[in-house]
Order: sequence, then structure tokens, then C-alpha cells
Amino acid sequence: MPNASASIWTHAASAPDRIALRGSTSVSWTYGQLSERACAVRELLDTHTVRPGDRVLLVAPSVPEFAMAYYGILAAGVIAVTANTMATERELTYMARDADVRLVLAWSALAPAARRTADELGVPFRELREGLDGIAPASAAPEPLPADAHDTAAILYTSGTTGKPKGAQLTHGNLASCAAIFCDIHAIGPDDRAVTGLPLFHVFGQACVMGTTMRAGGSLTLLERFDAGAMTALIRRDRPTFIAGVPTMWNAMLRAADDAGADFSGLRLASSGGASLPVEVMRAFEERFGCTIVEGYGLTETTGAGTCHLADEPAKPGTVGRALPSCAVAVRDDEGAELPPGEVGEVHIKGPVVMKGYWNRPDATGEALDADGWLRTGDLGSLDAEGDLRIVDRKKDLVIRGGYNVYPREVEEVLYEHPDIVEAAVIGVPDPHYGEEVAAVVALRPGAALDIQALRAWAKERLSAYKVPHLLAVVDELPKGATGKILKRGIDPSVVSGLSRT
Ligand code: AMP
Repeated sequence: MPNASASIWTHAASAPDRIALRGSTSVSWTYGQLSERACAVRELLDTHTVRPGDRVLLVAPSVPEFAMAYYGILAAGVIAVTANTMATERELTYMARDADVRLVLAWSALAPAARRTADELGVPFRELREGLDGIAPASAAPEPLPADAHDTAAILYTSGTTGKPKGAQLTHGNLASCAAIFCDIHAIGPDDRAVTGLPLFHVFGQACVMGTTMRAGGSLTLLERFDAGAMTALIRRDRPTFIAGVPTMWNAMLRAADDAGADFSGLRLASSGGASLPVEVMRAFEERFGCTIVEGYGLTETTGAGTCHLADEPAKPGTVGRALPSCAVAVRDDEGAELPPGEVGEVHIKGPVVMKGYWNRPDATGEALDADGWLRTGDLGSLDAEGDLRIVDRKKDLVIRGGYNVYPREVEEVLYEHPDIVEAAVIGVPDPHYGEEVAAVVALRPGAALDIQALRAWAKERLSAYKVPHLLAVVDELPKGATGKILKRGIDPSVVSGLSRT
């Protein structure tokens, strides 16, 4: 089994001058440059005595240097822990400590918090800067170390079905399978050009988009931070054959400046995932951009892959397509019995894209994966007679705001640290722009007062911006079940409609 980074070296050998990556500025890197620069990162790891199987925390936005560091880490047999770029210092330190990282690599603009994390753990810190400042060019570009399919290549923090963030371990086999599957079903080859505004720390950008394009030998344009106008401008500049994003991005692009007369003719495919795609958005997008939009469904724990629509088949709106090749999807009841078509139960996925397990969490791994390798997704859905999956709800406590997952329990834990809050529940409420907005329903200590501005300012210090509640309702007491557990479904709808906004 080759290392999941191997295709970079294969393309560097056969087509060294082909463009691999473009940034949102005029930066472009060939496959030859990408492989040499990744090898420079390998040398850097060696300088810091980071060995195969060790972990490195990578904190970087979607820039070519992310790919350089990521592939250098993988090629060395080291494990990349890719942190959310919005993570606060406290969140970074939690991940770095949990994964027991040996080195922190961070993009210059994100360096201060990452450096403090490295200091706190007593591990070295290196800054990644545009133009590779401080990283010596590699003297040679040796091939990646061979990897076993079960060797962990990357750890991505996610909360899974419950609880605190856990590191989903994606193996070289998982990453290679995900890339091979998407190259196959979407017929992605060396002539394809992709543009994405997705973050590379997340599985969708990292494995499904970057992994697939780099395997195919195509070129990938990265938008450092999604902005609808900038995305449309890059589509005009680089004439991609495919683009990838989450529904809020398509929505924002539809609402951005009028593109009347703009030529999007080379664009054949838009890949949508991460949250459900409203049928009206799908139709409007296809009409405006003249391409097919295919919706897929997956999780970090399935390397972003699970089901997908096929571009050459008529889409069945409201479904997320069928199981991908070599994967299987089943809908089960609470006892684990498989349900017939049409019945709603928990969606389970099996296949070569399913993670090895959570880092250092045998209990959580045992809850998520059964002995036959089926992953419980925490999503509720049903299959139709043709095997197309419809996602109807979530069993797990999760709010998806603009494609970003917010785990209410993590936010609630922070709210409980507030001196005036005695009870807290975090829920998602429908929002026309973000799909869902994060709302806090809290009970306060007698005599205390709290408004949304004060709560936001307080929470911002402790949580990534997208997790901070934007809506607040103060109640006397939260509804509880027999065991004293807060019942979110029991929250009075009038409380929710009366939530105060920023
Ligand atoms: P993540 O681990 O961040 O990739 O989030 C995975 C979760 O996103 C899934 O468990 C679903 O709840 C949700 N999700 C992903 N794709 C879709 C989709 N196409 N439709 C509805 N929900 C989705």
C-alpha cells in the first residue's frame, strides 16, 4: 500500500511543470515545486526529531503552504492533526494535548495562539509563511515512506455522536480510498481544475477535494477564506471544471453581485455536502452557473464519503444519493435491526472510508463502530427502493451553522462556566442564511441579568466564533425529565420565537 501522499511524487516525476495549486493571489505551484517543498517540511520534521507515528499540529488556512506541510508530514509517516483555524488558544491546547503532538506548525497570521499552545506543551513551534521563509529548500525529494493501509495519516477533531471533541483517525487507506472513489464517480483527471472555498482542516476540503484533485494530477485553486464575490472572481480567472462547497456558499454566490454575461461554460460540476441542500438553492444554482450540482453525504468519520448523486443520472431532489462504490449504507432501528425501504432509523455506513477509530478513546470507538465495521452516524434517514438515502433529522445533538458543526454540549459546558448561568441548553434554530443559528436558552442566578451582547463577548474569549450563540433566551427554569436531564424538546416554542438576536 503506498503512502496516501504518493500521487504528488508520481505527478512530480511525470509532469513536474503541471500546476498543482493556486492561491487566491497570483501564487501558483507546480507538482515539482509541491513535492520539493513537502520534502523541505520532511527535513524540518527530522531536525526536530519528529518520527513516524508522531503527531504534528498543523494550523493553517486554505493556502498552498497547507498542502506543502500536510503532504510533507504524511510522506514522513508522521500524523497530521489539522486544527480548525478558528480555534481559540484553549481549543488548540486541548487538541494538542489530547493528540500529544511533538511539534506545532502554524500559518503566520495564526501564529500567536498556536505558539502559546506549543509553549504550554513544551514542544517546538515553527511558523509557516508565504514564500517558505525560514524553511530551507530540500536538497532532494525522496519518495514518501511506504505506509500500511491501517496506519493513521491524519487526525481530525470532531465530536462524533456525543461529547467532547475526539480525534477521528483517518488512515492512509481511508484517504486513498476516498480520493479513488471521487476520481472514479466524477471522472476527475489531470485536465480537471477545481476551485474551492472549503477549509482544508476539514475532511471535505482536505480528503474529498484536495485529496481527489491531487490524486488525479489536476490543479486546485484555494480560497483562503470563503467570500462569494472572490469565489466567483476565481471561477472567472481559473475556469474550473469543478467546484466544491457547502449550501450556504451556493446561497451566498447566488446573492452576490450579478454575473450577467459572465462565462461559466467550462464548469461541469459543483459538489455540495456538509449540510442538506435546499432544492430551490440547487435549482437556482444550476440555472445561474450552468453546471450540475451533485449532493453528497458523509462525516469526518467516513473520510467525508458515504453517499453521492451521480452527475449523469437525474438527481432525486431531497435525497443525498446512493452508497458510493465499495461502501454500504443501512438504516437500523434502536436494536440494530436493519429496516426496510421507507422506514426511518439511524443511518449506518461501512466501507474502506470508515475511520480506524477515535484517537485514544476505545470506549467512544466501541460505541461508534460495531464488530463488523459499521459506523453509527447519529443521523436519521430512510432508504428508498432504489437505495437512495434521505436524511430526515439528527439523532445526535448537533447544530450545523453555515456548514460548520457546532456541538451544543461543548458550548453548554462553556456557558456553565459563566458565573451568572445556572442552567443552559444550546439549540439550533432555523436561519435563512446559515441554515441554522446557535441559540442559548439559560436560567440565571437570582438577581443576575444577562444580555446577548454580554454573553457573546464572554463566549468569544472561549469558543471559536462560529460556536458563539447569536440568540439568547433567559428563562426561570429549563424543562427536565425524570432523571433531571434537561429536555431540549420540551423547551417552549414561544421561548424560541422570543429569542433575542444581536
Ligand atoms: P462532519 O463530521 O463535520 O463532516 O459532519 C458530518 C455531519 O454533517 C453528518 O453527520 C450530517 O449530520 C451532516 N451532513 C453532511 N452532509 C450532509 C447532507 N448532504 N445532508 C444533510 N446533512 C449532512
